Amino acid sequence: MSRQIAMVLDLNKCIGCQTCTVACKSLWTDEPGQDYMLWNNVETKPGAGYPRDWESDGGGWRGEELVLGQIPQREDHGAEVPLNHQEVYFDGTETRLKQEEPMTVGANWDEDTSSGVYPNNYHFYLPRLCNHCTRPACLEACPVKAIFKRDEDGIVLVDQDRCQGLRECNKACPYDKVYFNYLTNTSQKCIFCFPRVEEGVPPACARQCPGRLRFVGFMDDEGGPIYKLVNEWKVALPLHAEFGTEPNVFYVPPILPSSFDETGDFSDAPRVPVAYMRSLFGAGAETALDTLRNEMEKRMRGEPSELMDLLIAKEWKSLFNITDVKVY
Ligand code: SF4
Ligand code: SF4
Repeated sequence: MSRQIAMVLDLNKCIGCQTCTVACKSLWTDEPGQDYMLWNNVETKPGAGYPRDWESDGGGWRGEELVLGQIPQREDHGAEVPLNHQEVYFDGTETRLKQEEPMTVGANWDEDTSSGVYPNNYHFYLPRLCNHCTRPACLEACPVKAIFKRDEDGIVLVDQDRCQGLRECNKACPYDKVYFNYLTNTSQKCIFCFPRVEEGVPPACARQCPGRLRFVGFMDDEGGPIYKLVNEWKVALPLHAEFGTEPNVFYVPPILPSSFDETGDFSDAPRVPVAYMRSLFGAGAETALDTLRNEMEKRMRGEPSELMDLLIAKEWKSLFNITDVKVY
């Protein structure tokens, strides 16, 4: 029986600390040719994201037809922070790392830049990784069948021995979550930490997250948090479902404080325009936000709320339902 592993990220708890990005980077992409890759990134929304303007690069499915988009350019992934590595690590003339010149571009292009007009401005953080899609456009596009989806967990992988560097997957993934290694001439991407998952250990991005906002489990596990958040409470939604790839990474949309009225009191108007939430998370966004608000209010009145208890995740192990989650 084929199974599908999935992740739910509660955006209400993301503080944009990039611990997940660093956990992934130091574990999987510290080899030559991988310097610019962030298999996991966290971007400020609204904003251009990473790689820059990925949402308008195209790709995905139009009905039954596979659509090829543009390959993101190397410079759209930002640039390194200019630090004095040479002096500290090689010359021994400095003991402290410092920035050599102002950084003009970074992987989080719009770091903490709000949209809207003060005092009703807003922004939130969107962590992104490969969605290990049920209809992976990357897999479909590969002419040499170097990309495969595992039966046991639905993780989508690129066979590095088969890949010929044709980059069709780069054009097909509408999330721009395939990266090209210019040295090995192969495509590389998030592997959902499959060697950890096989040991019952959650992916590094999820385990290291200080916000405890990433739930990991199997879609068919009816007792697990994924099933409850996606199918029962319907508060976890795919990002840009209209791309047609059927993502298996889901997001609980963020509730921000409502807008101020002219007198400086909170009004009923949402701070983040509903149309923007809908553009990211689809038609279910409003209902999901209503459910979250209702349950939050119940909790504030001292009434029980299974949903709030689930999302708070007081015990870290409650985030994960892989098998026996090991502690490391
Ligand atoms: Fe492929 Fe992109 Fe889906 Fe990942 S997000 S499985 S790279 S189509
Ligand atoms: Fe957000 Fe968690 Fe990543 Fe920090 S580690 S940026 S809180 S998802």
